[in-house]
Amino acid sequence: MIFGAGILKGMLVTLRSFVNSYFKKPDQGGLFTVEYPEKRLVAKERFRNFPFLVYDEKPEDPRCVACDICAKECPPKCITIVRDADAEGRPLKKPALFDIDLSVCMNCGICEEACPFDAIFMDHEFEIAGTERHQSLLYHKEDLLKSNGYFRQIRPSDAALIDARRKEAEDKKKAALKPAAPPEKKE
Ligand code: SF4
Ligand code: SF4
Repeated sequence: MIFGAGILKGMLVTLRSFVNSYFKKPDQGGLFTVEYPEKRLVAKERFRNFPFLVYDEKPEDPRCVACDICAKECPPKCITIVRDADAEGRPLKKPALFDIDLSVCMNCGICEEACPFDAIFMDHEFEIAGTERHQSLLYHKEDLLKSNGYFRQIRPSDAALIDARRKEAEDKKKAALKPAAPPEKKE
């Protein structure tokens, strides 16, 4: 082994990275720092930060049925849900209040895994910093609700699988509700 070969090898790596930084893009082995915020890398589909709630048609009808499972499963207990009720006080299958304290959320994604109604998913949004650390990070239902179109945009493969599964379940439900065809008359 030549004396100093390791140093030379290391210097060659540095030289190669220096030259590549001028001629190659980040995903081709070029510059590995991005001049944020002017430039941004496209987030990987499964990148996760904080959760959001999904609605299909309109935000007033979220997929969430206020079952409370995600709140119970959330390790730091940062989800608070209050079920909605009708004028007579009968419970409705939607939340009147759905809060997530993002200053406590640890981005684990357990709420997404636990939800049986495909109603809560991890978002790509990360630019939520502010000068106030309590109220501005307490996200309410109105802040959390995003359309299924948005979900399809950020996580197309997951959204396609979920859409197909939901459509199949919907079709089965419709088929079960259809009145059975009358038995054929025998001649
Ligand atoms: S997000 Fe899902 S698990 Fe959480 S309360 Fe709503 S339906 Fe239940
Ligand atoms: S990502 Fe984890 S910590 Fe954050 S709300 Fe969901 S379950 Fe709770």
